[in-house]
Amino acid sequence: MPELPEVETIVQGLKPHLQDATIKQVTIRTPQLRWPIPALTGLLKHQTIRQITRRGKYLLFELPQGTLLIHLGMSGRLCLLPHETPPQRHDHVDLLLTDGRVVRYTDPRRFGAILWTNACPLQHPLLKDLGVEPLTEAFTEAYLLQQTAKRRRAIKPLIMDSKIVVGIGNIYAAESLFLAGIHPAMPAGLLTKTQAARLVPAIKQILERAIAQGGTTLKDFVNGDGRPGYFAQQLEVYGRAGLPCNVCGEPLKSHVLGQRSTVFCEQCQKMHKEP
Ligand SMILES: [Zn+2]
Repeated sequence: MPELPEVETIVQGLKPHLQDATIKQVTIRTPQLRWPIPALTGLLKHQTIRQITRRGKYLLFELPQGTLLIHLGMSGRLCLLPHETPPQRHDHVDLLLTDGRVVRYTDPRRFGAILWTNACPLQHPLLKDLGVEPLTEAFTEAYLLQQTAKRRRAIKPLIMDSKIVVGIGNIYAAESLFLAGIHPAMPAGLLTKTQAARLVPAIKQILERAIAQGGTTLKDFVNGDGRPGYFAQQLEVYGRAGLPCNVCGEPLKSHVLGQRSTVFCEQCQKMHKEP
């Protein structure tokens, strides 16, 4: 599943290619992804893409008349291809540009979304309740402590809650908690100031590293191979249950937390309040 770093990588990768590009034609081969695809042809034809941004895992293509919202769902991809590239089975939408290239949306599982709004996109029903962006100055130790105070819910599902902070998927939550030395099942209300001061920078560091590494695979997805960036990453705990911890050598433990499999080190990640 494309996670926030992959989506950010896509935004950074597409921006120099698509900013100020003009859409010549729209082809919709599938009426519905997660929701029906709106009638885009009249809205997008001859429109120039002013800006490409991101909110959570939504890509926002800003056009003069409104904003195209794209979510990649479980298996979506956006590729920039020469227009003569023949469409394959799961290629649902093409935006043909006046320069002859095509922006192609591919999604085998069809859990993604392509939507349109001519109002402020940040007020769209899917976006308006999203929490803070983890890589902005709004995501601070004070904000996290305010959100965790008196909460009995485990810390890992709390940081994965997009109403609190967006874009921290299972991989990045597990890796951030390991880096910060915090047990994933610790009740959030026990988070100390010291732990919050480690966790917030750990989350930012893990996401930034993933974006930096995603950047190295950028040319691949621009060429059509949408390999998610996290395959390139060195992961400390995610997917390593039973293997020795890279710090202390103890076998890593695994259990299910908030319906998600969680890997952690009992030695390195503490459950209780520190002195
Ligand atoms: Zn360890």
